[in-house]
Amino acid sequence: MNLILVAAPAAGKGTVAEILNKKYGLTPISAGELLRGVDPETDLGKEIRRIQSEGKLVSNEITNELMKQRLSKDDVKSGVILDGYPRIMDQVYALEDMMKELNFNIDYVVYLKVDYETALKRTIGRRICPNCKKTYNVLTGYNTPKVENTCDNCGCLLDKRNDDNEESLKVRFNFFKENTLPVVDYYKALGKVIEIDSSKDIDEVIKDLEKSLGV
Ligand code: AMP
Repeated sequence: MNLILVAAPAAGKGTVAEILNKKYGLTPISAGELLRGVDPETDLGKEIRRIQSEGKLVSNEITNELMKQRLSKDDVKSGVILDGYPRIMDQVYALEDMMKELNFNIDYVVYLKVDYETALKRTIGRRICPNCKKTYNVLTGYNTPKVENTCDNCGCLLDKRNDDNEESLKVRFNFFKENTLPVVDYYKALGKVIEIDSSKDIDEVIKDLEKSLGV
């Protein structure tokens, strides 16, 4: 099964993807992570981080190319969860070309709905391990690190993402409404969209999603 997760920032895409990976073995592919994975010492890596910190989108040329390289790897065969891609209609068309070339299909588009206040709390409280990339939250009560500011997995000091501030969240939230909701509408017309209230607790979100997916 191949899924796309669409949501406003901090709606919980990464958390949902991680749980679906553990339970069903689907491979999560996050566009934001692929972009953050470009070496920060290179000019390209620096440019990507600058754009991300302003809450803007990295160019289609770079994002589509990274996505295509990632989708060409073998581990996608057991099913994928695309997290944060496609975010705009141009990326929908680029993904359609990739699907033809690489011979795969999207089964469902999961739209996680969240209100601004919940997204803000999740954003401000989010912490990430710079080493193993595990994500925590110090405000929501979900995924709190066992030892303050320390990764449960590897003991590293936790970091904040450079775009996890209110200013950047506002830009990303507004961008979502204007540019990503048309993506949801496009897939709705194809009968592929599952809508889930993502302001609920994560356990309920997963239960609702599993019911809709019939798994
Ligand atoms: P995320 O990890 O999904 O919250 O994305 C973090 C940032 O990475 C976004 O604010 C953008 O700067 C960049 N990004 C993520 N996905 C895309 C995409 N599909 N196209 C362009 N830029 C993206």
